[in-house]
Amino acid sequence: MDCIFCKIVKGEIPSQKVYETDEVLAFLDIAPQAPFHAVVIPKNHIESAADISPENSQIIAKIFEAISAIAKEKDLKAGFRVVNNCGEQGGQTVNHIHFHVLAGRNLAWPPG
Ligand code: 5GP
Ligand code: ZN
Repeated sequence: MDCIFCKIVKGEIPSQKVYETDEVLAFLDIAPQAPFHAVVIPKNHIESAADISPENSQIIAKIFEAISAIAKEKDLKAGFRVVNNCGEQGGQTVNHIHFHVLAGRNLAWPPG
């Protein structure tokens, strides 16, 4: 399968890792949209939030454990935003579920 994030998990594409467990990986986004911008993913390939079910939803808890740990480690006390883009109209460009963690500036709401 030709998935960029699976290749990052396998080390075939280099990344700047900020958090890693057996199940979860977080790395800096290649095109940061804020002073701090990481992407948190499950190591197993799941296409999008639309594919989360009772069978695999535990990984979402692990991802939010990762986000909390990253926020502490990176000292994101002023706040941060977690974003999941899902599907074409949701703006998803990489079809391996991921959560953006954005911080370091005021973030507009609602999003465009
Ligand atoms: P999406 O648009 O699907 O929500 O987010 C995909 C994100 O992956 C984008 O923010 C994009 O910059 C990032 N990205 C795409 N390819 C790579 C890559 O090879 N390395 C890293 N670190 N980030 C990537
Ligand atoms: Zn993948």
